[in-house]
Amino acid sequence: MTEQRTIILEELQCCSHHPAADEIYLRVKERLPRISLATVYRNLELMSARGMISKLEYGSSQSRFDPNPVAHSHFRCLRCGSVEDLPFVIEAPALSGGEPWVKSRKILTGRVEYQGFCPDCRDQA
Ligand SMILES: [Zn+2]
Ligand SMILES: [Zn+2]
Repeated sequence: MTEQRTIILEELQCCSHHPAADEIYLRVKERLPRISLATVYRNLELMSARGMISKLEYGSSQSRFDPNPVAHSHFRCLRCGSVEDLPFVIEAPALSGGEPWVKSRKILTGRVEYQGFCPDCRDQA
């Protein structure tokens, strides 16, 4: 684990709203002024490929990163895009093994995502 990667991971762990790469970059830059966005992005991709963190993809909008690689449930704000962990555990419902669609796949895990407006956005939305 390089020093760069350690710092990127620390800055990701400091944010509770699952930041996108450019926000992580701005935080890391405070500590490593010469680092580039491409380097931060490459390290985030690598850590996600190795299962150290998870990458949350939302179609056309920027991916966000989660320091917790284990499946867990989220709330996503549709106005500001922040993603937070639910403060309690909600298991994704199990899929019945008898369904042909389920049988033809090997399903490892699942997670629940709620969407709406966060406290800062709810009155403006
Ligand atoms: Zn919001
Ligand atoms: Zn999370």
